[in-house]
Amino acid sequence: MIPDLTRLAKYVSLAPEELRRRFEEHAGTLARSEYLLLEAVVELAETTANLGAPAPELVSVLVDLARREAARAPRNTISANQRRVLSARTLHQLRELGLYRDADGVEPVWPHAGMLILNPVLGCSFGCAYCFRADEQRSSVDWFLNGRPTQVIGDSEVVDRLSRHPFFVPGVTQLGLHTASTEPFLPQVRASTFRLLELLEERGWRNDVMIITKHFITAADVARLASFQSFQILLFLTFNAAPAEMEPMGARHGFHERQVATVHHLKAHPNLMAAHYYRPIVPGWNDGEEQIAQALTFGEPLGLTVIGGLKEIPGLDEISLRRRLSAPTVAQGEPGEKHFPPELVERIFAIHGRLGLSSTVVGDQSCGLTVMLSRLRGAAVPNVEAVRMYDAMSSHRPKCLGRCSPAQLDACARPPVPSAAAVTDLLGRMDYDGSFEITERAVVLRSPVTPTDVELAFLSAHLRYAVLWRP
Ligand code: SF4
Repeated sequence: MIPDLTRLAKYVSLAPEELRRRFEEHAGTLARSEYLLLEAVVELAETTANLGAPAPELVSVLVDLARREAARAPRNTISANQRRVLSARTLHQLRELGLYRDADGVEPVWPHAGMLILNPVLGCSFGCAYCFRADEQRSSVDWFLNGRPTQVIGDSEVVDRLSRHPFFVPGVTQLGLHTASTEPFLPQVRASTFRLLELLEERGWRNDVMIITKHFITAADVARLASFQSFQILLFLTFNAAPAEMEPMGARHGFHERQVATVHHLKAHPNLMAAHYYRPIVPGWNDGEEQIAQALTFGEPLGLTVIGGLKEIPGLDEISLRRRLSAPTVAQGEPGEKHFPPELVERIFAIHGRLGLSSTVVGDQSCGLTVMLSRLRGAAVPNVEAVRMYDAMSSHRPKCLGRCSPAQLDACARPPVPSAAAVTDLLGRMDYDGSFEITERAVVLRSPVTPTDVELAFLSAHLRYAVLWRP
């Protein structure tokens, strides 16, 4: 029996009875197991859709999904794990039809911080209490934190979409793998990570590829990562000394020892640039003296640690209570801002000094990428998001922690001025109708329509120069 369709019908501008009739039309053509799955898919779609779109293909897409899932494993009942897989695939289909958008707008090829992130998998089993995909977890869709990373789109399809993306510039755009939808070295995701790398290698585009992982990487996999020739991998190894309540998988017995072993494996492959990702650091959760010392010591052999705080997510208090964690303090400023009090930063620096460590400590992902690139090239390159230029114009706490080498500080403060041709070329990829001026402080856009944050980040990251908009 097709369930209630009131919400879904509203989003596709149909009467519920009409939408039901369209689904029921297929009933006679479906085997019992296919119909069972269709009922589940429609129920998930009903509770997941959150955006209006015409979506004339909705019924056929969901019927096909039910058929495909039934072909994988014909069944008369649906287990909780099977429902999670179904949830991820249903959500993806709704997203493709324009009927679903998560709060961050994550897509299979997702423009973020001037990069393009490839996300062919949905769902994770690392179980972080602070996961920013908690929205999905809390409402109707339980796919994300419950242990079923699910491939929702083929790796080659994602790379094809990348090649057609208006913000993809071969050889320039920095890429990321699996950063917003799963963990790239989970056993169920690892094959996709390597397949994506192989596909990029075949294309020979030479774009840097960022991979952030909380998992350990085996010696064989580190060697495999180091074998790619046509692009540079920039690897962030996350370790934040989190207790089990905060990151259950990372706190498993023997897990951290394998993370430490990963750092040793990397030493054999100097062409593979890696840094320590030390975030989130949350007062009351993982900011004890011993925890900070353990995390900084982990990063020392890599010579570079990126520190950072916690971003607020909906329902964090409730999740914390469930996990028996104290309610965290969250940032009061701009939405998406991270809580990272200056006192905590100072404490981290003090412990770093007390331990006699020599690693460079930076406070932004872009700084981590930049320092890795500078080390690789043997000369300081400007920050990949022009952080110091933006700092110079802002009244907020600077993102640049000022602890890099003098040459790096200088390169970031005075990046090369972009040419008018380079700016025009990039603006041609956007729907931009206006003029621009290049000054020593920024590229200033003047147009009647405000460019989106995504567009400004795209321009800035590709020019490696601050970009502002003025009406
Ligand atoms: S000098 Fe500042 S902006 Fe540049 S990479 Fe270092 S921390 Fe980041």
